Amino acid sequence: MERLEADYLVVGAGAMGMAFTDVLVTETDATVVMVDRRHRPGGHWNDAYPFVRLHQPSSFYGVNSLPLGNNTIDAQGWNQGLYELATNSEVCAYFDHVMQRRFLPSGRVRYFPVCEYRGDGCFVSLLSGDEYEVAARKTVDATYMDVTIPAVSPPPFEVADGAHCAPLNDLPRLAGRFDRHVVVGAGKTGMDACLFLLAHGVDPDAIDWIMPRDSWYLDRANIQPGGEFTDRIFRGLENQMRAIAEAEDIDDLFERVDATGQLLRLDSEVWPTMYRCATVTRAELDQLRRIRNVVRLGHVERIEPDAIVLEEGTVPTSTTTLHVHCAADGLTRRPALPVFDGDAMTLQALRTCQQVFSAAFTAHVEATRDDEAEKNRICTPVPHPDTHVDFLRTTLANTTNQAQWMMDEELAGWLRNSRLDAFTPPPGEDVPELDPGPFLEAIPRLEELLADL
Ligand SMILES: Cc1cc2nc3c(=O)[nH]c(=O)nc-3n(C[C@H](O)[C@H](O)[C@H](O)COP(=O)(O)OP(=O)(O)OC[C@H]3O[C@@H](n4cnc5c(N)ncnc54)[C@H](O)[C@@H]3O)c2cc1C
Repeated sequence: MERLEADYLVVGAGAMGMAFTDVLVTETDATVVMVDRRHRPGGHWNDAYPFVRLHQPSSFYGVNSLPLGNNTIDAQGWNQGLYELATNSEVCAYFDHVMQRRFLPSGRVRYFPVCEYRGDGCFVSLLSGDEYEVAARKTVDATYMDVTIPAVSPPPFEVADGAHCAPLNDLPRLAGRFDRHVVVGAGKTGMDACLFLLAHGVDPDAIDWIMPRDSWYLDRANIQPGGEFTDRIFRGLENQMRAIAEAEDIDDLFERVDATGQLLRLDSEVWPTMYRCATVTRAELDQLRRIRNVVRLGHVERIEPDAIVLEEGTVPTSTTTLHVHCAADGLTRRPALPVFDGDAMTLQALRTCQQVFSAAFTAHVEATRDDEAEKNRICTPVPHPDTHVDFLRTTLANTTNQAQWMMDEELAGWLRNSRLDAFTPPPGEDVPELDPGPFLEAIPRLEELLADL
């Protein structure tokens, strides 16, 4: 067994491990060993479907020290008028560049791809079988988000012989071979599969969309960097907070927030029970509404050659239909752990669905603070949302975290200068005032509503 020494052992070279290491090597002189079972940095993006794009603008994704993309506004397509979204190839090339041109030449990062971490500082090469043991001051778990995607996880339902089912990764390859498509899954991946089919001229009446739960969506126009959006975003947030503060109960809260347009839904007749911070543009939503065959009969249990068996009923299908597996869990809601725990660290989201920002911010706190209790107070995890009630939990947790960060002058300064933080205006930018009143009223109301559950 080869013995290695480093200040930090980072397990996982996905987006979070990369964003964490970037700030660590920028702000300290620490040495790092990075281990990942994949062959290239970027984590799940290496196995993503070929037509995926970031669901948020590139301008605040990646690592803090290097811009991703060209910071341009799309002039066409269903994201028109909003900041560009990197493709998976761009994301993977970007992380590879960060590793090859920045981390490794620094001489302070050693990278071990295609290696399985086995715990207690030990890992093994999956190709050569060579074993390593790392003596590190701290071990950083950058795998905890546990991302599962359709390409690498089998469908959570049975597929009988004769029925056709494939992950959405195969849609371009299988184009033209089937006369119907059944998209199984109502999350962001399912939306992407539907949009891919519609963008390529598939008749919406030849698509069935299996939707065990309807989802609340975030309007991507509200998740934009750049001064031209700030006023609209701030006014929208104030309205959302006023709606929350005035809500009589949880149903009333969603009615009021729905009326502000801060949350969107597919069907005005159906109240969603899912919230996983999927983003959509209004143009995409108009497209998705063209699909009229939405099946709301629970989860799929089995696909037979002539029938799809769901929890609450059966619908017909055929052997000339492709069932598109979009039913992987994506990011699961995992219990919150202390980010700092002696010689172990567990990277988690500190702002809903802003994993790379959170990993970078955690590294800054690690680099600049000593007291573990204080570090954990600053880095309070915001578990990934799943149900509509999680919208309340994450709104409360985000607001509380942001308020305490802004009261700390040093942290507020870092946030203003961080390219991964699109929500704290940069220094010198002529930004409109954000009225704190509605936020201060919404926080206790959220606490009361959640306490009643
Ligand atoms: C389709 C899709 C679109 C998304 N779009 C956005 C977006 O626009 N913006 C956004 O902020 N987020 C987005 N996300 C969320 C996204 O998952 C995070 O941004 C981020 O990529 C998560 O990175 P990660 O490093 O936590 O996880 P991963 O990418 O899963 O990286 C973890 C790594 O750890 C490795 N690993 C795990 N266990 C071991 C072990 N025992 N030994 C060795 N290696 C191990 C894995 O191989 C993997 O490479 C999207 C997610 C999906 C699925």
